[in-house]
Amino acid sequence: MIRPERTEVGALSVEGVTRLYGDEVAIEDITLEVQPGEFLTLLGPSGAGKTTLLRVIAGFIHPHAGSVNLDGRDLTGMPPHKRNLGMVFQNYALFPHMTAAENVAFPLEARRLPRHEIHRMVDEALRLVRLEQLGDRYPRQLSGGQQQRIALARALVFHPPVLLMDEPLGALDKQLREALQLEIMQISRDLGVTIIYVTHDQEEALAMSDRIAVFNKGRIQQTGTGEELYEQPSSLFVASFIGESNIFRGTLDVEESLLVRSERRPIRLDPKSVHRLGLASGDAIALVVRPERTYVRPASGQGGTGDRREMALRGTLEEAIYLGPVIKFVVRTEEGIRLFVRTPQASARATFISRQVEVHWQIDEALLVPV
Ligand code: ADP
Repeated sequence: MIRPERTEVGALSVEGVTRLYGDEVAIEDITLEVQPGEFLTLLGPSGAGKTTLLRVIAGFIHPHAGSVNLDGRDLTGMPPHKRNLGMVFQNYALFPHMTAAENVAFPLEARRLPRHEIHRMVDEALRLVRLEQLGDRYPRQLSGGQQQRIALARALVFHPPVLLMDEPLGALDKQLREALQLEIMQISRDLGVTIIYVTHDQEEALAMSDRIAVFNKGRIQQTGTGEELYEQPSSLFVASFIGESNIFRGTLDVEESLLVRSERRPIRLDPKSVHRLGLASGDAIALVVRPERTYVRPASGQGGTGDRREMALRGTLEEAIYLGPVIKFVVRTEEGIRLFVRTPQASARATFISRQVEVHWQIDEALLVPV
């Protein structure tokens, strides 16, 4: 493969950005640092403010407070075309009356580059997205995946230091989406371009990003690597948005390291995590137990476990759902709580013997979060 030219990398910072629509706050006091060459994802449910922030960075809308800086240069008052940022949208936004190559050439024509330069750079960009054979096609003669690759080539052709992507794979089916995820990651690494990527799909965010900023209701809830967000969520929102969870809510009993639920059985907590959070008895807390950190086994005679590092709840196996490499069990506990368990297929077989089961987990594998 011919190595593409590396772009100039850019460090982007957003400081205290607030944007309203009428009286409604779309984003509030957002501060973010994106390192040169970093792949940062804005993740959150629909309406959380991700696109608003991206549009503020691109310059399509202006913030009511705060600033956007690129390599220390203040972009805040600058119109979009002067910012020199690449942008890819979900709906491709290709010009239908132009061929793929003409679409890719457009930003270069707008910059009035010499003809031979334009040719060279368009060829290079088409090669980058592996569509050098299809430059003469019109958008309607291309599949959705190919159109999005052309949109990507158009966004990268002028070597922007930062590429902004708004749900770029949202309109594609799962297989194509996964293939393009890999391609975008490889391209971003080869070019060294800084990427800010918007998605509501947590799997996509985990698969692609160096870091993820989790949005909810116009604010950043937590920023970190996928692993940090999954293993150390700072709030119940982040814990439940990233990955599947069993969630127990209740109040804390510090002395006994217990989560106490009214009329239901208390759940044993890891004393270390109780300590770490610095909470007091009576505080509202939630315990998050990931399904893959639990296991089921046929109910024993005495019920529960003598091991203080373990928690066990008895229940009835309601469903065993075959998911290929793993089996998902749904268990209704004696207290009426519904629990999810994920187990590798091979180790799940023994469990089918009984409908009366126990769900176990190591207490230090459960995540305690304040609510
Ligand atoms: P996301 O990208 O996370 O789905 P948005 O940034 O699109 O969220 O929206 C954030 C909030 O701002 C939502 O409440 C949305 O309804 C509101 N909003 C977005 N765009 C406009 C607009 N052009 N006019 C009025 N309200 C808007």
